[in-house]
Amino acid sequence: MKLVTLERVYKQFPVKRSFLGKVLERISALSDVSLSVGKGETVGVIGESGCGKSTLGKIILDIEKPDRGRVLYKGKEISELKGKEYKDYRMNVQAVFQNPQSSLNPRWQVWKLVTEGISINFRYSKAELKEKAEELLRVVGLPPSFSEKYPHQLSGGQKQRVAVARAIALKPELIVADEPTSALDVSVQAQIVNLMVELQEELGISYLFISHSLPVVESISDRVVVMYRGFIVEEGTSREVFSETAHPYTELLISSTPLSGRKVSRFPYLGEGHAVFSRCPFYPRCTRRVPECRSYGMQVLRLSETHKVRCINPIPSGQR
Ligand code: ADP
Ligand code: MG
Repeated sequence: MKLVTLERVYKQFPVKRSFLGKVLERISALSDVSLSVGKGETVGVIGESGCGKSTLGKIILDIEKPDRGRVLYKGKEISELKGKEYKDYRMNVQAVFQNPQSSLNPRWQVWKLVTEGISINFRYSKAELKEKAEELLRVVGLPPSFSEKYPHQLSGGQKQRVAVARAIALKPELIVADEPTSALDVSVQAQIVNLMVELQEELGISYLFISHSLPVVESISDRVVVMYRGFIVEEGTSREVFSETAHPYTELLISSTPLSGRKVSRFPYLGEGHAVFSRCPFYPRCTRRVPECRSYGMQVLRLSETHKVRCINPIPSGQR
């Protein structure tokens, strides 16, 4: 069974209000987003800043509620989970965020940070919690002595290890990792990614892994979703998305990555007015656009059992 499933989820945010607070303008952070994460699976999420990646993560974590659509945990809608079932969901779906600085309370020692979830859900003495903290620190590659430290005494990479220890403390099934390495030095980024991969092998955790780093997403993901302006425009196995790229936006994203070896020049910005609902949001930037993209551009084509693309004129397989 799938751990988490999104069915046609929409989420808008008000971006402009009148003097009296009436919403004048909204932005669609998520539009028609369907997605699932299975047990032990890593689903990578890529797309430029503002495309809705964090909103997707927050919906899965129940930090934001969808305007439309359904969010299921093990087949049940999370808005309808009560008591023990909701608690079970909250324990099993954890998060690691980009900035450990803001996600770790600066006044708490590491042992308390790491065992917060445990102490909320179970009864343990302080000595027992400290013991558990030391064990968790060992798992994330930090010495036991770190349990007495405060966040400001740690480097960025060490803080993120503490954030990971906190996330795994309740043995979750799924971790939503929202750009977990973006705030770190390049040299430390790989260590954190490796740690997360090791933990997955040991503990069978699933990841929704949101990242700017395409090479990282390509290497660690079983499946990848590509987002553009709130829509999932391409979805497939890591190989399908990166080596059999079908959506012109995915191609643009990959070719914009330094060292990708792909040409950028094929995709100039063409300019165009406002987006119309059924028209593809990528239309203004797309060189593969055809007149039909204006009216049918949002249709989803299925290229294989696992490969889907929201484009009516995808890149043909020979040219990818
Ligand atoms: P990403 O993580 O891909 O950069 P986000 O999910 O953070 O994108 O944001 C998607 C869009 O929704 C952006 O235009 C952003 O400005 C907007 N947005 C996100 N959260 C809020 C909020 N709480 N209020 C208003 N707008 C928001
Ligand atoms: Mg974000």
